[in-house]
Amino acid sequence: MTGTERAASPARQESLRELNLELVFRHVLAAERPISRTELASVTGLTRPTITRIVEELIAGRLVTETGSARDGRAGRPRVGLILSRSGPAGLGLDIRADGLAACVVDLTGTVRHLAFAPFAFADAEPAAVMGRLAAMASAAVEAVAAERLTVVAVTLAVPGPVDKGVVRSAPALGWADVDAGSLLRSGLGHLDLPITVDNEANLAAHGELHATRGELDNFVYVSGGLHIGAGIILDGRLVRGSRGWSGELGHVTVDPEGRRCPCGSRGCLQTYASPQALLGDSPAPAGTMPELAVTTRADEGDAATLAAIDEAGTALGVALSNVLNILDIGTVLLGGGFALLSSWVTDRVEDEIARRVLSAAWAPVAVRPAILGPDAAAIGAALSFIDRLRLDPAAWLASQR
Ligand SMILES: [Zn+2]
Repeated sequence: MTGTERAASPARQESLRELNLELVFRHVLAAERPISRTELASVTGLTRPTITRIVEELIAGRLVTETGSARDGRAGRPRVGLILSRSGPAGLGLDIRADGLAACVVDLTGTVRHLAFAPFAFADAEPAAVMGRLAAMASAAVEAVAAERLTVVAVTLAVPGPVDKGVVRSAPALGWADVDAGSLLRSGLGHLDLPITVDNEANLAAHGELHATRGELDNFVYVSGGLHIGAGIILDGRLVRGSRGWSGELGHVTVDPEGRRCPCGSRGCLQTYASPQALLGDSPAPAGTMPELAVTTRADEGDAATLAAIDEAGTALGVALSNVLNILDIGTVLLGGGFALLSSWVTDRVEDEIARRVLSAAWAPVAVRPAILGPDAAAIGAALSFIDRLRLDPAAWLASQR
């Protein structure tokens, strides 16, 4: 028995049990290969009987499952390995994109188990109509994965703008200001009593990308494009949210103080050079087409105005990113969302500006490359948020399963 266990009074047994549960579950979550009970005892400092009891609880609660064998060190004999369950709790992510709405469910292993997309015309759409449609997609997703023994435990909505306690403060691309998206979604979900979080899409997409690049990258700036040009900043493996969660509004970094008027009220913001509207000029994308796809089609056809607009957008993006990189000392830029589609057109321009403007680039070149997850990054990152919640309190889920 460890010292902590011996010291616990009966009144504190329950919280001690919860702490030990959290500790063991955290190690299974972090393990990159099946982990054995013996290894768990060794890394947590808990006794073997305690580990056995906790693992039993985790297996009964569908958080963990047994797999083939895990070898304990070179000399050890093979033992049964433990991995995360693919049939327990799951997270639901919703995203409002330039071309429509997306719903995504991931399981504990981070695997996407459901992905649905619905084209949606945002022009003149009331927030209630958008959220009603999303709520219907959410209900369908919850039902679809229930057939695979997955239980959705949390809903996270990605929105193109800064959010304050569920309220979208500003999403100029949607024409939204102070829209209580959280409450609208809650009333649309009706009978489904699930915790709802609303967050900025660039933050959530960066979170998804961090998960997808597991172990490989822990410092990067993720740039999202589309309805909202935003940046999700990952420093030392953690998302930098700012003091109020509003960091990363890259679209409103000033590129030219005397430039064009931005819907935010300022002038010369990156958004005025690199938004889909700026790239498409006077002829919008056909309904249901991602604006960036329309842009690349025109560029492939050699349309001179589109090529000039792309050059200007790439340069403006490089200037804005240089300001960020000079301050934060980050060596990798991931072009995501709509910019992932445009990356082959804009990367050279972005790199040129960074090479010219970032002081450290002379001896430590900054890597600029497309993000891994493509247009679904925000929906996937939103869905993955449930894992952080569960990591902190697996006991709450286990209690709900009794
Ligand atoms: Zn602006």
